[in-house]
Amino acid sequence: MTKKRSILVTGGTGYIGSHTAVELIEKGYDVVILDNLSNSHAEVIDSIEKITGVRPGFANIDLNNKSAVQEFLRIHPVEAIIHFAAFKAVGESVEKPLEYYRNNLVALINLVELCRDQGIRNFVFSSSCSVYGEPDYLPIDEAAPVKPAQSPYANTKKIGEDILRDASAVLNMNIVSLRYFNPVGAHASHQIGEYPLGTPLNLFPIVMQTAIGKRPGMKVFGQDYNTPDGSCIRDYIHVVDVARAHVVAIRRMLEGKCKNKYELFNLGTGTGLSVLEVIHAFEKSTGIKINYSCVDRRAGDVEKVYADTSYANSELGWKAEHSLEDMIRSAWAWEQELQKKTMVGSK
Ligand code: UDP
Repeated sequence: MTKKRSILVTGGTGYIGSHTAVELIEKGYDVVILDNLSNSHAEVIDSIEKITGVRPGFANIDLNNKSAVQEFLRIHPVEAIIHFAAFKAVGESVEKPLEYYRNNLVALINLVELCRDQGIRNFVFSSSCSVYGEPDYLPIDEAAPVKPAQSPYANTKKIGEDILRDASAVLNMNIVSLRYFNPVGAHASHQIGEYPLGTPLNLFPIVMQTAIGKRPGMKVFGQDYNTPDGSCIRDYIHVVDVARAHVVAIRRMLEGKCKNKYELFNLGTGTGLSVLEVIHAFEKSTGIKINYSCVDRRAGDVEKVYADTSYANSELGWKAEHSLEDMIRSAWAWEQELQKKTMVGSK
């Protein structure tokens, strides 16, 4: 029997990390997870085991603790790292810029140095469409200029990409940055989904919480954008499609198929949807009315952004497959699971 190829997933108990761990295990990879549980739950490891029948290796280690990560990698040698672990709240990053720069960038530098020193040749970075800022044209492709970041969080993604591009020039490594548009939805098993410790701020979880009655109503930020219905437009993509793109990127690296030492790809569907279209699609799909009011714009929001996915489609041989209906149904099923967990927790 050939030995399984080992992948380290940092932030593997988080939202996208846990879905990626599942997809990797199901494709026959050996997965080890590092997470400091700063915004996730250790029980996600149990959920991954329930879905896949395999329990991934796990350690609660902060990536800023380089010697602890080094020791972990000595015991668990890996061929590739997928690096999700990072702070990700835009508003909080404005309040705590130094914490964001230290946490997101020191961890990244530590990991790449460890790759260099331990001969790990493959690295995937979670980036974001926020690096495009307000796009000059749509759909936006990878050749578009990177704009000044709108928040310390977005700047950590932009600087992270710069660090990796510069490092790749002098390292014997394959590095891939994946620019996520708006990942939403949950695994079809309803065992994992978005499960942050604090209050969610993103559109999908807020729609779900409003529908289930955790919130009396929700706000639609901005009604005077230059869009057909006045609300902002985004490219929502099912989290399982995002997770699968990571598996494809890993395979490309391990099979030696990267065309450049540093590559980057958009992960979106290519379809732009407004906030109101999302709310109305949810109402139509579930029959539940959402109590919303249209209010002023939220600071820092871009008007519209959606991906040109042709490069990812042709180069990675990957395409988002889930529909908006899949995103809504899975997110709603997961919200109902979360409700059960809270009820058990409050007994
Ligand atoms: N949004 C909204 N009400 C909310 C949360 C989000 O109208 O309570 C809008 C937000 O202004 C943006 C879109 O939904 O236009 C997506 O926001 P989200 O925070 O999910 O992702 P972002 O695109 O900011 O990363």
